[in-house]
Amino acid sequence: MVKLMTYAGPAVADAPGTRTGGVPQTPSAFEWPRCRECAGPMQFLAQVSLADVERGSSGLLSIFMCQNDPGLCDEWDAGAGGNRAFAFGADALHVPTPPGDGVTLLDEACAVRFEQVGAEDYLEAPGQWHQQSGRPVREVLGQVGGRAAWLQNDETPRCDGCAQPMAFVVQLEEGHDHRTSANFGGGGYGYGFQCRACGTAAFLWQR
Ligand SMILES: [Zn+2]
Ligand SMILES: [Zn+2]
Repeated sequence: MVKLMTYAGPAVADAPGTRTGGVPQTPSAFEWPRCRECAGPMQFLAQVSLADVERGSSGLLSIFMCQNDPGLCDEWDAGAGGNRAFAFGADALHVPTPPGDGVTLLDEACAVRFEQVGAEDYLEAPGQWHQQSGRPVREVLGQVGGRAAWLQNDETPRCDGCAQPMAFVVQLEEGHDHRTSANFGGGGYGYGFQCRACGTAAFLWQR
């Protein structure tokens, strides 16, 4: 089984819970992440309610990536400093004002619906969902839980805190509309992870 994220129409920018785009919900002490390579503010891509991934979980996985110089800041790498992921707790209720410089937001906030598909692997799931639903494959926004479907080698990151492999949370497509999509190299996938024990999170993308 694969738990798909599908496009459920536009969302308000500060909608609670899982969505792509809009403005992140964060703890009040949050400082907007800046790229280690170009020093510009990162673009907020998505937040995933961890309760949507696993029953009984709480908090948000929040994903940012540099888009100030696309392709030049090693933003595909989990450790190079061109992206950031956060695992926020129940205090992520604040909506920060994005910095005035750089590329900080996507041009659309998208609501997400979750739908189970009986596919073996995520790579087969959008085609199956299209056959069942009649909706365009492009409206699949990704998957949560289960197994990451890698386009290249398995690059599951290790936690900075405990050095253990991190738990897979979400695989993101670029988006349903190329005008408002994230940039994973043109047809790539983003991958979000967390370490529950340490409260750390990581992100990378492949194509
Ligand atoms: Zn950068
Ligand atoms: Zn850890």
